[in-house]
Amino acid sequence: MVQLTDVQKHFGSHHVLKDVTLSIAPREVVVVVGPSGSGKSTLCRCINRLETITSGSIAVDGVDLPAEGRALAKLRAEVGMVFQSFNLFAHRTILDNVTLAPIKVLGRSRKEARAEGLALLDRVGIADKADRFPAQLSGGQQQRAAIARALAMKPKVMLFDEPTSALDPEMVSEVLDVMTSLAGDGMTMVVVTHEMGFARRAADRVIFMDDGRIVEEDTPANFFDHASSPRAQAFLSKIL
Ligand code: ADP
Ligand code: MG
Repeated sequence: MVQLTDVQKHFGSHHVLKDVTLSIAPREVVVVVGPSGSGKSTLCRCINRLETITSGSIAVDGVDLPAEGRALAKLRAEVGMVFQSFNLFAHRTILDNVTLAPIKVLGRSRKEARAEGLALLDRVGIADKADRFPAQLSGGQQQRAAIARALAMKPKVMLFDEPTSALDPEMVSEVLDVMTSLAGDGMTMVVVTHEMGFARRAADRVIFMDDGRIVEEDTPANFFDHASSPRAQAFLSKIL
């Protein structure tokens, strides 16, 4: 579903992604871990072209990422992204947040978009918040709204970049539960997270990045219990 081949990313002279080759199968859930600055966010941002890569290739569902134009807009719609900081439109209701892009980008009718939007809000457990504004919701509810908004574009892949890092501890599980259910429904997912319980429960594969490289990849059980590289072991000793 997602194929990265020899991807390099530089910011000026700073080499941030190094020889990244990665194949993600349909329905696969890949958890990405690694120290701060190792390139996890850049990897996600490159997969949906928020950043352009320096060289290499990235294909989603067999189609190479186009650089610009309508083809890019369409492809970006196929890759949903959820950020640490929710990024909801503050002056729009929760339901409007979910329906804006389907109406504008997918050409859905308002009525159709609202029906789908309400169903998605119900799926993430906040149907009763449809007419509220983001600031009236808790962080966990806002993040669930952000997930519903991404799902409204019917993405083929969902990227989550530390989706629970900005949340108060008591709100982490409500977001992880939505993500676990999405994984159970067969969504292809790339999840950057330090939530090791989620990784053990939901991941098919854990990828450990360090200094712009994929240093290790394995099943969660193998990775957490028998990480082979010293760098992964050092990382795990700090977070477990
Ligand atoms: P992670 O998400 O693993 O913490 P990032 O992908 O955010 O790592 O960052 C990887 C490296 O790229 C860091 O050294 C960071 O400072 C650098 N970096 C990220 N975004 C930019 C940018 N827009 N311009 C310059 N350097 C950047
Ligand atoms: Mg990051």
